[in-house]
Amino acid sequence: MTEPRQRTIRKDVSLAGMGIHSGESATITLRPGDVNTGIRFRRLDLDGCPEIPATLSHVVGTELGTSLANGDAQVNTVEHVMAALAAAQVDNAIIDLDGQEVPIRDGSFQDYVHALRDVGFKSQEVKPRVVCVKTRVTTTGGDGQSYSATTNRGLTVVASIDFEHSAIGRQSGEFSIDLESFETELASARTFGFKKDEEELHDRGLALGASLDNTVVLGQDGVMGGKLRFPNEFLRHKVGDLIGDLALLGARIEARIVAERPSHAGNIELAKALQAHARDTNREAIVDTAKIMQYLPHRYPMLLVDRITEYEAGKRIVGIKNVTINEPFFQGHYPGHPIMPGVLIIEAMAQVGGLLLMEEVEKHEDKVVYFMSLDRVKWRKPVTPGDTIVFELELLQFRRQVCKLKGQGFVEGTLVAEAEMMATIVDR
Ligand SMILES: [Zn+2]
Repeated sequence: MTEPRQRTIRKDVSLAGMGIHSGESATITLRPGDVNTGIRFRRLDLDGCPEIPATLSHVVGTELGTSLANGDAQVNTVEHVMAALAAAQVDNAIIDLDGQEVPIRDGSFQDYVHALRDVGFKSQEVKPRVVCVKTRVTTTGGDGQSYSATTNRGLTVVASIDFEHSAIGRQSGEFSIDLESFETELASARTFGFKKDEEELHDRGLALGASLDNTVVLGQDGVMGGKLRFPNEFLRHKVGDLIGDLALLGARIEARIVAERPSHAGNIELAKALQAHARDTNREAIVDTAKIMQYLPHRYPMLLVDRITEYEAGKRIVGIKNVTINEPFFQGHYPGHPIMPGVLIIEAMAQVGGLLLMEEVEKHEDKVVYFMSLDRVKWRKPVTPGDTIVFELELLQFRRQVCKLKGQGFVEGTLVAEAEMMATIVDR
């Protein structure tokens, strides 16, 4: 079997149309993306064309659609285009949008799937990020939602929905998610809404673009205006939405997911749980000590990073420090009661952060990172010999060689330390 590779699309492709909630028209253009950049939206209509990474930390809304924001720049209803990209295993793409809401097209996923098919795919030279579920991950939601994810090869979704309406009722099904089956089984399933909710939604500025052209509308007596594309089109659409929301993990997913009454809010909670699971179970090095030493000037006993397990350029990094009794600091801190000095935990966190920054500059071998300030530092639990600290850092801002990072350290899933740090890059 050939090793999986990251993928992008071959060339630009544009679609236009109205947003289902805003009722406003916009053009969306999907463009090829560089290796490790993930999926990023770009608001062309705003000053400076701000980027909005399609990741969980940018989710700001889950009511009747999933919204992302970066500062003041927002994009709404991202789930259908995200589902199409995920089904097609597109890891990297720039999505230009000249408005705030992604066009709804016919309310299904198929125009996005067809657009991707039309331009075709390009294999890239780097392995994709894959989240493999290794034990059972479960989450529950407030409205009877529950999810469980277990080990699986590829991605399979088993879902059930339950609506008190004669045209829906309870529907269940199992779907394996690859481009072919997504295309035939799920892509044409449209979003749906209830006629009785229309007025209230309009009053709240929602569903202003909804019509029989883009929504299966359910009236008192059944489906209004036309036929369903599948008897269980509702279920199929909800599964497609789940795929789109899980795509915000920024990784391919290997799991069997059982979802009871999935909703956008519940989907995002599941994605966050899978993110935490991946952070706690992924120990495979993508950057080893030898490579780390090319980037960091630190050496024994001050090199406090063992390996890097996740890396997204300009965005986030995950690194590991195995804390053993042989660490020199345990000789004096404290004899008979070894605990890792808190400042060294922060130092290790900063070194992982330094690796994220070094990839951002040219001629990194001539540079070093100086930390300028620490903020909101908290130590929550002592770290002792035998612990493995997983550090996760996110780049919050990078301007004129000065950057701001947020870092967290976890031992077995429990937060042990956190800090915000400012750093600058200077010549060696
Ligand atoms: Zn949807």
